[in-house]
Amino acid sequence: MDINAANIEEIVKKVLAGMNTTTSPATSVGVPKTAKVGMLTAIEKMEVKEFPIPEVGDDDILVKVEGCGICGTDAHEFRKDPFGLIPVALGHEGTGEIVKIGKNVTKDSAGKPIGVGDKLVTCMIFKDNPDITMYDLNKQNVGGADVYGLLPDNDPNNHLKGWFSDYILIKGSAGSTFFNVSDLDLDSRILIEPSAVLVHAVERAKTTNILRFNSRVVIQGCGPIGLLCVAVLRTLGVEHIVTVDGNQQRLDFSKRMGAEATVNFKDFKGIEELQKGVVNAFGGHLADFGFQCTGSPAGHSNIYKFIRNGGGLCELGFFINGGDATINPHFDICSKELTMVGSWVYTLRDYATTFDFLKRAKGIGLPVTELITHKFPLSRIQEAFETNVRQEGLKIAVMANQ
Ligand SMILES: [Zn+2]
Repeated sequence: MDINAANIEEIVKKVLAGMNTTTSPATSVGVPKTAKVGMLTAIEKMEVKEFPIPEVGDDDILVKVEGCGICGTDAHEFRKDPFGLIPVALGHEGTGEIVKIGKNVTKDSAGKPIGVGDKLVTCMIFKDNPDITMYDLNKQNVGGADVYGLLPDNDPNNHLKGWFSDYILIKGSAGSTFFNVSDLDLDSRILIEPSAVLVHAVERAKTTNILRFNSRVVIQGCGPIGLLCVAVLRTLGVEHIVTVDGNQQRLDFSKRMGAEATVNFKDFKGIEELQKGVVNAFGGHLADFGFQCTGSPAGHSNIYKFIRNGGGLCELGFFINGGDATINPHFDICSKELTMVGSWVYTLRDYATTFDFLKRAKGIGLPVTELITHKFPLSRIQEAFETNVRQEGLKIAVMANQ
């Protein structure tokens, strides 16, 4: 064998590379030194900053981000910083591929094996109580849990805490929960988090024993949440769904998601006329069950009028404080004997169900992934947020490597 300088250099490189993989605490593939992180640095100001990629510990996972949806919560943060987090690495509806994994991490939060090359999503971070659920009041409210993308930027050595980045570091020791979702396509994975909100709401609705497969269901509000509500109900075999909104385009989309009929409230004057519109859409009946998916107090006041005596209601539109709503307790609740549940966010368990929902929705041909109407590269994250705030399109995603 003829060993020249070039060959020696090659051999030295190979030996060094071999040493790297045997001495490194984590398995990895081609990881750069720095990561780009989309940060909210002031009100209405998103900036892409560059930070060193920290050491990946034995319990940690480094993920190369593919994309992340902009949530209503992100928009609230962008406009007003209600959680007081600025500067903050935002983005919690994200997904990507594992590029480096600590030696202690072999399974996801459902017990599924996990390794380099698998696709991942994160759920909540349970600092001390992994059994937190939303609707068991004996347990701590989920408000006590954190999520990646809404964490304070308080560690000088790690700023990779949000999904609007090209890399994110999942800290196993911090109580993070995460799932191997390699069997879902990218757009479905971006929609897991918002879908889980609806899977949870339908679980809450079922506790009333009023929502059944042959129920007449009215869904008020056809933003991403209302549209996903239609899709979740359709995958459960609910046929008779009427949607109510003021935006015809969104109403038309709700039909493609599986609504039987739609009601544009702009076509009706006053609540009595609107009620007749809903009754007509159900072929002469009031709804057995309603889902209120708007954050509008008027929306909350109206939905009672669409529900029959003995019917049920799930209110999930008020994710944040949207103000007080006026109702008539006699007509709306007592004399109707209405059964009502509230729903907020989701539980860890709902995540596993959500993966199946997305597969079933795809299987029966629902255009769920068409909810993503815009994709912006990370470098244009400011524009992505401005588009979201203008309420253009439905779900806007920021793609890390475009
Ligand atoms: Zn969200």
